[in-house]
Amino acid sequence: MSERDTICALASGQPPAAICIIRLSGDRIWKIAGALLDCGLPEPRRATLTRFRDEDGNMIDEGLVVFMPGPHSYTGEDTLELYLHGGPAVISHAISTLTSEPGVRLAEPGEFTRRAFEAGKLDLTEAEGVADIIEAETDAQKAQALRQLSGGLTEQYDRWRAELTGILALIEVVVDFPDEDDAPEETTAPVLRKLNNLIGDIEAALGDRGIGEKIRDGFRIAIIGAPNAGKSTLLNRLAGREAAIVTSRPGTTRDVIEIRRVMGGQVVWISDTAGLRETDDEIEAEGVRRAERVASEADLRVFMVDGSAPDLSVLSSPYRLPTDIVVVNKADIDMAANLPAYDYKISAKQGEGVPALETALSEFISGKASSVEAPVITRARHRVRLVDGLACLIAARDALELGTGPELAAEDVRMAIRHLGAVVGAVGVEDVLGAVFSEFCIGK
Ligand code: GDP
Repeated sequence: MSERDTICALASGQPPAAICIIRLSGDRIWKIAGALLDCGLPEPRRATLTRFRDEDGNMIDEGLVVFMPGPHSYTGEDTLELYLHGGPAVISHAISTLTSEPGVRLAEPGEFTRRAFEAGKLDLTEAEGVADIIEAETDAQKAQALRQLSGGLTEQYDRWRAELTGILALIEVVVDFPDEDDAPEETTAPVLRKLNNLIGDIEAALGDRGIGEKIRDGFRIAIIGAPNAGKSTLLNRLAGREAAIVTSRPGTTRDVIEIRRVMGGQVVWISDTAGLRETDDEIEAEGVRRAERVASEADLRVFMVDGSAPDLSVLSSPYRLPTDIVVVNKADIDMAANLPAYDYKISAKQGEGVPALETALSEFISGKASSVEAPVITRARHRVRLVDGLACLIAARDALELGTGPELAAEDVRMAIRHLGAVVGAVGVEDVLGAVFSEFCIGK
């Protein structure tokens, strides 16, 4: 695929719809407009009503076109948007006509935004913000995506990189005057102060308990309990559909079943896990291992006990935290005498007590989501680079403190600048571009 191709795609949703938007970017637009639009090349930035025809002069549709000449367009190239009727026949006629023009092809996912990135219109975190706002389902995801696409992260990383460039310049002074005995002490003290401040800032960003990633990908709640406690029944009730198989034979749920819901304004994955118990069955044992992983990684665990026949062993789980919730189930039948201390008594089957439990889950999740204001990290990609950058800064500090090697410290700071630069896409990103832009839908 050549960079010079003009790309074209349906940018609006699935047909049929009242209107569809077909988008083009590249230098063939002049030719296309001249050949296929009755109006010729439209006046820039004005909606123009025109007929759109195929190469044989047959009418495809009548609609509006807007021409945005480069470089002041989204991609930096000439772009044309066609607003046509959103029926499948119109769309396929339009797309096949456009792509049969020489030098015009269908766009890859995210290719318009990739061209915008390559033209320096936005950096990588802003491009990710564009992908995220298209996917955003909750207000929290939308707010986070908007902050990112409007440069919220760019500013933060630019500030850090500028500080590091300043620190590097100071260290290079020390490197340049290695023989002056008293220089290091005086010169390194302010460098160390600045370096420590920055290390503190990055540690604070990394100490966000993954909230930014969770707002984007979803929080996790694990329902844990002995076989037959009623976990699947509760999950199905929370899902409002038959997500898990409910049977009265213990050990049926052999794998982890998840449902996705919005709770407390956040996307939440709720999992029903295999009962945590000793077993000789190999498949079930694997289920138990997965259940343990899910249990340990969840933001909240709901420990479920069958109130008619309590098995309390689950409550001594090593993953149990004080914020976790204990639920006694089967409140609709006779309860045993040895009930544990519990937070909610419910009947997963009849629904009694479930709304109160749902409210508690929602409140927990919304509290957790708002526990970190404006998280800096919204993707694993950012975290990995920040962790690596931080390690370089700590190595630089050690080298300066021990007085062993300002040259080494300078090299570490240079590496840290590269790691932070990679987050915004300023350096060494060829390998991540494919991954970042393939997350997009076609037409964006
Ligand atoms: P799991 O193994 O923990 O997932 O348990 P299930 O959800 O498969 O339920 C095991 C059995 O308990 C099934 O026969 C359910 O119908 C029954 N059960 C689940 N919840 C309740 C409840 O609230 N009341 C009563 N009476 N039975 C329940």
